[in-house]
Amino acid sequence: MDIKYNGFLIKYAEIGLKGKNRHVFEDKLLSNIRIKLNSLDIEYNIRKDQGRIYIEITSAFSYDEVVSKLAQVFGIVGICPMIEIEEKDYEVFSDRVVEALKIYKGDNSFTFKVETKRGDKLFYMSSMEVNAELGGKILDNLPNSKVDVKNPELMIHIEIRDKVYVYFQVIKGAGGMPVGTNGKAMLLLSGGIDSPVAGYMISKRGVNIDAIYFHAPPYTSERAKQKVVDLAKIVSKYCGTINLHVINFTEIQMAIYENCPHDELTIIMRRYMMKLAEHFARENKCLGLVTGESIGQVASQTMKSLYATDMATSLPVYRPLIGMDKQEIIDYSLKIGTYETSILPYEDCCTIFVAKHPVTKPYLKTIEKSEKNLDGIIEDMIQKAIDECEIIKVNE
Ligand code: ATP
Ligand code: MG
Repeated sequence: MDIKYNGFLIKYAEIGLKGKNRHVFEDKLLSNIRIKLNSLDIEYNIRKDQGRIYIEITSAFSYDEVVSKLAQVFGIVGICPMIEIEEKDYEVFSDRVVEALKIYKGDNSFTFKVETKRGDKLFYMSSMEVNAELGGKILDNLPNSKVDVKNPELMIHIEIRDKVYVYFQVIKGAGGMPVGTNGKAMLLLSGGIDSPVAGYMISKRGVNIDAIYFHAPPYTSERAKQKVVDLAKIVSKYCGTINLHVINFTEIQMAIYENCPHDELTIIMRRYMMKLAEHFARENKCLGLVTGESIGQVASQTMKSLYATDMATSLPVYRPLIGMDKQEIIDYSLKIGTYETSILPYEDCCTIFVAKHPVTKPYLKTIEKSEKNLDGIIEDMIQKAIDECEIIKVNE
C-alpha cells in the first residue's frame, strides 16, 4: 500500500541568500516548476510562503512522475512529499501520521523527532503538546521506533495552519540556481560525452543556454546530427528550451585541411568553431561560450591549446569540466542520462580530419601564420556557413 500524498513542499536554499534579488529568484523558481508540472496531466495549486513552496495537487497523479520532474529543476534542494489534512483535529491528523509511518517504516527500526509549527495560534494544543502527544502515540504504535531529539533519522514535521500539513521525507533536489537568473551562454555541443555535461553544469548555475553544433556532411551523417539533437533534448530537461544552431562546417574544414599544416588542424578548426560560435552568441545576447574541455584530456586541451583557442574569440569561454577526470565526467553523464546517447558510435567531424600527431604545444604566432593561408578564401565560407545555419528549437 502507498501513502496517499496530496502534494509536495519544496525547499530551496541558495536563492534564499540573495538579499534584495530574492523575489526574482523565487519567482523564477516558481515559474520553472510550473513549466515542468504543466507538462503533466495534473491539476495543482502552487504558492510560496515563508521560504517554502507548496504544491498542492488536486487531481490524481503519479508520485514517481512528479518527483522525477521536480528533481530536474535547478534551485530545488529538497522535495518533501506532503500529506494535507483538512480537519484541524488532533485525533484525525495523528491517526494519519501513524498510518503513514506504518506504511513507510513498517517493522523497521528508526529514530524520530516530531516538530510542530503552529501558524494558527487559535489551535487548541500548543506545539509542545502536539510534539509530546504525537511522539508518544508513534512510540505506542510503531514498536521499533525510538525518539532521538539530537540526530533523528526522521524529522516528522507538522504544520498547523489553514489545514494541517505533514511531511517527514526529504528527497534530494538538483540544487543550484533557477535557470534564467544568470543570463545566457552559447554551448558548443558535440555528440561526445563531455559537452552535454558542461551544458548541465552551466545551467545548474542559473544560466540559460543556446547551443551550436558543427557538422560536416557527407563525412558526418544525419544520424550523427540526430544524436546531437537527442542530447540537446536530454539536457533541455534541466535547462529548458535550447535553440540548437546547426552549422555546415565541411567547406571550412576542407579549406583548413588543404591549406594548413596537418598537425595544426584540430587547433585551427577549433578556433574557427569559436569564431562562428561567437557570432551566434552575440546575435542571441549570450555572454559567453561553453565547452566540454578539461585540461590535458587530449592534445587540443593542453594549457597552450586552450590558450590558442581562447585567443580566437573575445567572449569569455566557460569550461565547467576543466578540473574533472574523464571518469568523473562519465559519472555525471550517467546521472543526467546523456551517457547512453553519447556513446553511440557515430562519426564526429573532428575525428575525420584529425592528424596522427597533433601539436600539443601550439604557438599562437605559428597558428596565426598558418591561418594566413586561408586569407581570401575563408571569409566567404564563413559568411555562407552563417547564412545557411539551421536553427532547431529543442524541447524535452
Ligand atoms: P566531447 O565529448 O564534448 O565531444 P571531447 O573530449 O570529444 O568532448 P573534443 O572533441 O576535442 O573533446 O571537443 C572539445 C569541445 O569542443 C567539446 O566539448 C565541445 O564543446 C566542442 N566541440 C567539439 N566538436 C564539436 C562539434 N562538432 N560541434 C560543436 N562543438 C564541438
Ligand atoms: Mg568530441
